[in-house]
Order: sequence, then C-alpha cells, then structure tokens
Amino acid sequence: MTLDNIIEKIKNAESIVILTHEMPDGDAIGSSLALYNGLKQIGKKADVVIPEYPKVFDFLHNRKDVKTEGKNQKYDLAIALDCGDIKRLNGFAKYFENANTRISIDHHSANTMFADYNFVNPTSPACCQILVIVLEALGVEIDKEIGTCLLTGIITDTGGFKYSGVTSETFEFAAELLNKGVNVSNIYKRVLQTVSKPSFELKRIAMNRLEFFENGKIAFTYITKKDEEKANATSNDHDGIVEMGRDIEGVEVSIFLREKEEGYKISLRSNEYVNVSDICLMFSGGGHIRAAGGSTELSFEHAKTKLIEECKKHLK
Ligand code: 5GP
Ligand code: MN
Repeated sequence: MTLDNIIEKIKNAESIVILTHEMPDGDAIGSSLALYNGLKQIGKKADVVIPEYPKVFDFLHNRKDVKTEGKNQKYDLAIALDCGDIKRLNGFAKYFENANTRISIDHHSANTMFADYNFVNPTSPACCQILVIVLEALGVEIDKEIGTCLLTGIITDTGGFKYSGVTSETFEFAAELLNKGVNVSNIYKRVLQTVSKPSFELKRIAMNRLEFFENGKIAFTYITKKDEEKANATSNDHDGIVEMGRDIEGVEVSIFLREKEEGYKISLRSNEYVNVSDICLMFSGGGHIRAAGGSTELSFEHAKTKLIEECKKHLK
C-alpha cells in the first residue's frame, strides 16, 4: 500500500526536503509546516524550502525555519505537498528530481502522478486533510501547533468550511482540534477575513472592471502589473478577486487574468457544473473541478476572447 511505503521511506530517510507549489497558499504552507513540525516531533530533521510566502502565515509554528534554498543538492527523500504537477514546483523541481526517493501527497484532480509514491485523493478538500492520515500513521501526536497548521490549510482551501468538497471528517477533525485548544476563530480571521490594504485596492480596481458575458453566466475581470505597482501589492494580494465574480448571482464561471512578466496568469472558478480544471488543461494548467488556473502568452484581447469562447462551450 502506498501509505505503508511512504511511512517506511520517511522513517528510513537520512535527509528529507519538503516542497510545495509556487505562489503558496494556506494549504501549501500549512501542510509543509505541519509535516515539518510532525517530523521534528518524532526526531526526524527536514528542510522546508519555499521561495516566497505571504506574511499572513507568519503565526504558524516554526515558520522562521522555512528556507529559501535547500541545504543539500541531493536529498535522500523529497516530499511534494499540495502540488498536482511537477512544473508547479518551479525552480525547486531540482531538489525533487535529484532525490533518491520522491513522494507526492496531494488532492488535485488533475494530479499527474509525477512521484515514485503518489498519495493523492482528489475528493479531499485540502492536502492538510490527507496529511492527518500520514501524520497519524507516522505516530505523530497532532498537538495544538501542528493542528493550527493543518486547520489553516483546511480553512483556506474550503473557503472557511463552505465549499462542496467538505466532508464529515473535516468537521470531526476540526472538533478534535477545538478540544485541543486550537483557535479556529482566530485562524479564520487571520487567513480569510482580514484584507491587506493593497489587496483591498486591487479588489476595488478589479471590481470596477468586471464585465458579464452570456447573460451574466460568465464574469470577467483582470489586473495589470501597473495596478499591482500602484497598490504596493505583494505576492498573494490578488487572492480573492476571482471569487468576487464567482459569488455574483447567476454567474457560473468567473475568469480572472493577472498580467505577468510575460503573458497572463489565468484563474477560473465555477459554481455548479462547469469543470474549470478541464478548461485550464488547455492553458498549460489544471487544478480542481471548481477552482483551477493556468497561464497564457497570448495578448490580453486574444486571451480574453479565447477564454470566454472556451467557457461558453461548457455552459448549459
Ligand atoms: P488560483 O486560481 O487560486 O491560482 O488556483 C486555483 C487552483 O488551480 C489551485 O488549486 C491551484 O493548485 C490550481 N492551479 C493554479 N494555477 C495552476 C497552474 O498553472 N497549473 C496547475 N496544474 N494548476 C494550477
Ligand atoms: Mn490545496
């Protein structure tokens, strides 16, 4: 069984590196630090390598131990968390590829099974929820600190327990953590409710630009590099923009374009039936059925027209 192999590999590893996807979100950072803290508890050292991480996650236990470069060129074991595609490990794929053994623990439906051992469950609402199983099998006691990391991932990836992927285990686990003193309300407030000033400014711009197509079933908006400069934005300040379109009555698909050095980053969300992961596969991306992303080097107008055309094909 994959889980048994994973446990054995972790227990026998001489050196371990923990990696996650580019532009890390709460599930990426939460799962990385939960695993790091869990391994530490059972006496195993690991390096967590994440190049850039939003300040909002600074409250997570041992966040200061996160490295921006690996210590070794070659690790005995590499573990990728919350990452559906090796391309999304970005500049850090080298640590993964060079390792003697490679493990992936993930919940993306479009996971490409890129590791030697793939512990992937697309029905799980967060990578952190899958990690609970792995940590328990390792004999880690999920204490208040580790629980806070795990719940941060679950809260961010479920939009605060409200997305359809939420399972009864999600609530059972949250209840267990409440009993251990994890402050659910505080995590919620920090990671979902509080909006930074730059993030608010970007939302304001994107909201003013929002357009509807196909009788209001498609919402479209965008931000440029200039907007981000003007707003003093940092890495994740655009988070939440694509959801603004999604949450408008009658909208099935929300499209958000973010200008990059070259081309645009695409974010798609859907409400009821459109599989946006399928659409993003056409734009070198992927993700989940209701939340996916990709990128394009087309011009703005071409990208906009092509995306709207593709989304149209999936509408009822
Ligand atoms: P977001 O729109 O928040 O950037 O991403 C939504 C979901 O799609 C996330 O779960 C993320 O993992 C996935 N995703 C975003 N961009 C890409 C991409 O370029 N490639 C792949 N494979 N998945 C992506
Ligand atoms: Mn995730």
